[in-house]
Amino acid sequence: MSKSAGGPSALELARACYRPISLYAPDRAPAEIDVSDNTNLWGVPPVALETLRGAAESVVTRYPSLYADKLRSAIASYIGVSATEVVTGCGSDDVLDSAIRAFAEPGDLIAYPDPSFAMIPIFASMNGLRSVAVPLRADHSIDADAMLATGARIVYLCSPNNPTGTRMAAEAVRRVVRESNGLVILDEAYAEFAGEGLAGEAPQLSRLLAVRTMSKAFGLAGLRIGYATGAAELVAEVEKSRGPYKVSSLAERAGLAALESDIDWVNEHIALAVELRERLSAELRSRGYAPLPSAANFVLVPVGNAAALAAHMRSLGVAVRPFSKLPLIGDALRISVGPWEILERVLAALAEAEECV
Ligand SMILES: *Cc1c(COP(=O)(O)O)cnc(C)c1O
Repeated sequence: MSKSAGGPSALELARACYRPISLYAPDRAPAEIDVSDNTNLWGVPPVALETLRGAAESVVTRYPSLYADKLRSAIASYIGVSATEVVTGCGSDDVLDSAIRAFAEPGDLIAYPDPSFAMIPIFASMNGLRSVAVPLRADHSIDADAMLATGARIVYLCSPNNPTGTRMAAEAVRRVVRESNGLVILDEAYAEFAGEGLAGEAPQLSRLLAVRTMSKAFGLAGLRIGYATGAAELVAEVEKSRGPYKVSSLAERAGLAALESDIDWVNEHIALAVELRERLSAELRSRGYAPLPSAANFVLVPVGNAAALAAHMRSLGVAVRPFSKLPLIGDALRISVGPWEILERVLAALAEAEECV
């Protein structure tokens, strides 16, 4: 078939709200040491790995379960809620996107803290929403009053917040739920490292959706398993928007195995990550840096020129995540916490990069 001349271009045919969107493109080129994405640097939980090795032949030719009900029940017991109060998805990204689509009409407003998770304004645009970035307060905490003052249909909160690592007190989240008129999404991707969260309480808070993931503490980022808890009626709307077959058979099997048989492994590595996060922060302070206090499995370190330092570190085989001109913070590097041998290599690369930049 020949291309017709004339007629609208693909770009003209696309939804207007898609035109300004560019693909998510952090530098993901392979590096010998990658501490750029806050995944579990100790690896895959052992029973989940064993399950994956054995499962492929028996499950791959058939469709997965519609709404991952077994996984949903296992998550419900892990969090301490009932299965009707859980929705899963293809990574928590999918759960966030589905929730935004389910609870806001095109043109509605979503408020999110700045800086926070980079995907939120992208999901907002993809769903035709307007978004408003609300700066953090001087102590890097989320400004609950300013978030409420937007009157947004959806308020997005993140605790511990990515990329700052800052936690938001549970009482402050409850107040936002009480005083806002819309849906409140609390992203708890790193809650395990803070040792606290509202996922268990979310169903009682009627308009709160607490979103979690198996990509970070559970070491299963490549399988894309996310979930949220909330009141059953709220979760049911997200389920409609998410649609069927979103969690693959292999992901469901491995996720189940991790929840049923790997919890001790997961908890041990959470404790280790917390211990080494404090050791890394102390080491950075002794070298003259002022890392932000973190409740997650990463540390944000203000630096002079993040892009140049990160590029030089990458040439030494170490990938960190650079941020430029963050409000209140300026340039900074985000470093995921992993085994100390890895963090020593990161510290050495940082020192060498500082010499050259
Ligand atoms: C990593 C991350 C996610 C995405 O997790 P997936 O489940 O892998 O999609 C969501 N929110 C925050 C704040 C994150 O840092």
